[in-house]
Amino acid sequence: MNPNRSASSLPTDSEALQDASVQVMGLNYFFGQGDLRKQVLYDINLDLQRGQIVIMTGPSGSGKTTLLTLIGALRSLEQGSLKVLGQELVGLGHRQMVEVRRNIGFIFQAHNLFESLTAAQNVEMAAELTGNLGTKRQRAAAMLAKVGLADRADYKPASLSGGQKQRVAIARALVNRPRLILADEPTAALDKASGRDVVTLMQQLAQEENCTILMVTHDNRILDVAHRLINLVDGRMESEEQPHSRQGTGGMVVI
Ligand code: ADP
Ligand code: MG
Repeated sequence: MNPNRSASSLPTDSEALQDASVQVMGLNYFFGQGDLRKQVLYDINLDLQRGQIVIMTGPSGSGKTTLLTLIGALRSLEQGSLKVLGQELVGLGHRQMVEVRRNIGFIFQAHNLFESLTAAQNVEMAAELTGNLGTKRQRAAAMLAKVGLADRADYKPASLSGGQKQRVAIARALVNRPRLILADEPTAALDKASGRDVVTLMQQLAQEENCTILMVTHDNRILDVAHRLINLVDGRMESEEQPHSRQGTGGMVVI
């Protein structure tokens, strides 16, 4: 093993990777075994182009989180094909799954911060071990400033509001400048203004770093940041539209 292997050491030379960050083909997913086996995703086909912001909507229980965790290499699957950043995940071993995950920034519903650490320490914890502690600290501080929490760096989660905690979680996900960001309702706990700030920040990063964002949301106020909207219903991809098509009055809006 090369000790200098960096977080971005996944294959970069394949043609497909130039455009597609995620390629899903014929994906089926089941929870449980035997009689309890239940299918939750059906024949999912989806390509996420590099630099795109894609928003996924759909009713509760339709499989959005499950699909996000599969793409994030947080659970393994047997059926279909799922390529993330040029790497096929089907049949991949545990260590390789961990390696894929290092290139992905996760923002989930629950912020999962360490209660005993300050905001700055929570972000530093996630910063890759490149450079010395000083630069890790600086990167964490800069990212906290970007999410508007420079003055809360030394606060512990118990002293932060729900929205502030979620912003720390976002800083933590972004601190390594991942090539793919998976976000599950990241603005659910935020007020309108800070929700908007957070998605603007994510949008900025996607542009600057040419990274891809797949975000689940019910927040109608942020749909306009998406290049594409996709809709999952009962485990099936139901429809897809360009966000600007919902601007018109009287036109059919597919949700
Ligand atoms: P969504 O995020 O769209 O609300 P989920 O992906 O969480 O949907 O869930 C999809 C379906 O899978 C639901 O019927 C849910 O009950 C079921 N499910 C989710 N997680 C598990 C699990 N760990 N074990 C068994 N069933 C699950
Ligand atoms: Mg969910």
